[in-house]
Amino acid sequence: MAKTILIKNATAIATLGKEQRLLQNAHLLIEGNLIKKLGEGDFFCEADEVLNAKDKVVVAGFVNTHHHFCQTLTRAFPLAINSKLFDWLINQYPVWAGFDHEAIFLSTQIALAELMLSGCTTSTNHHYLYPKGQTKFLDTEILAAKEIGIRFQPTRGSMTLGEKDGGLPPDSVTEFDENVILDSERLIQTYNDESFGSMLKIALAPCAPFNVSKFVMRESAKLAEKYGVSLHTHLAETEDETAYCLENFGCRPLDYLEEVGWLREKVWLAHGIFFNDAEIQKLAKFKIGIAHCPSSNARLGSGICEVNKLRKAGCPVGIGVDGSASNDSSNILSEIRQALLLTRVKYGAEAIKVEDVLEMATFDGAKCLSRDDIGKIEVGKCADLAIFDLNHLNYSGAEDPLGAIVLCQATTVDTLIVNGEIKIRNKEFVDFGLQEKIFRHREKAKKLLKKAGVL
Ligand SMILES: [Zn+2]
Repeated sequence: MAKTILIKNATAIATLGKEQRLLQNAHLLIEGNLIKKLGEGDFFCEADEVLNAKDKVVVAGFVNTHHHFCQTLTRAFPLAINSKLFDWLINQYPVWAGFDHEAIFLSTQIALAELMLSGCTTSTNHHYLYPKGQTKFLDTEILAAKEIGIRFQPTRGSMTLGEKDGGLPPDSVTEFDENVILDSERLIQTYNDESFGSMLKIALAPCAPFNVSKFVMRESAKLAEKYGVSLHTHLAETEDETAYCLENFGCRPLDYLEEVGWLREKVWLAHGIFFNDAEIQKLAKFKIGIAHCPSSNARLGSGICEVNKLRKAGCPVGIGVDGSASNDSSNILSEIRQALLLTRVKYGAEAIKVEDVLEMATFDGAKCLSRDDIGKIEVGKCADLAIFDLNHLNYSGAEDPLGAIVLCQATTVDTLIVNGEIKIRNKEFVDFGLQEKIFRHREKAKKLLKKAGVL
């Protein structure tokens, strides 16, 4: 008999969606890894565990659609705190060139801990850094993510176009084209699980037009087709990138993507700021998803994504905290708030609702990752839930449950359930030693900066 958890007396359970429902004094029953029952009022049944959710608000666990975990090691990087994207990258490449397996393992867990403590139950990661002589970083990430217990959809990133070939990164952090494709196929064959409720899916993610060869872009699309996996990359993030594409490829970034065979289903793109109206229609035709990363875009002064135009056209727009060196945080609740604020700055207060950004962070994020088994509180979906405590200082005085968690200052989740298992209880990890990991992560960051001559 599968384990059961009954959540009762919840002040609010947000099912959202077209009906935009907010169940009050509500209950939810989990059986195994699935949501079994859901409704308002009292409900009595035998359960292995009963959680009293009085003064608590329950939402679907958030889905993070874009990140670079390893950048937690260069947060607020001293030489790039006031830089735009290309300079920010060029300054950090020498430190990133020193990454080893310990750096990858620790940064993965630190990023995931911050994500989970802010309500995230599924995350992707875009790892594209493989310094010469280093391989299998993604295997290390998978091990680290499994230990902390999140639903994980990592991508095999890559950079193959170094300085000598007209790319942006130094050659010390680029790989050979053929190796990228061989390793991509190995990872799919070894780890990819496409079943309902999968805890681990692989996607392919050449880094960006200005640091990856056309060969890798084309062959990645072919591999994705062969195995039915998703494709991901950075696109239309800055005006510098548009200028780079015009100069080097003679076309705009989306035309380039089309040329290399990427206009297809199961694709999601990070940022997507500089698309014109015709390009948005083209993206919508293939239901291409956008990972909106508002803090990173604001921090680097890149621009503001046309969230409403994209959503109206039919593109799923998810939320991404992006690399911790350009957002300097992996707090997804804070990012949800930032998404609301940034769109309102551009289009006014009525342009986007609290419910809209919560939908973006849940089932639209799931759609970006080509999933319909997560991202919504509904009978039959996976039991991924974030439960926030309205008694927290940051929410005191706020009586609108969804307004509280989005508009007030982001806080730590009270309870986090991933795939039917309680991973955070009373705001602390159940089976993960966070303090020791923070200590080791800080030591590693200092060592890397020293090695690169920054400290
Ligand atoms: Zn990124």
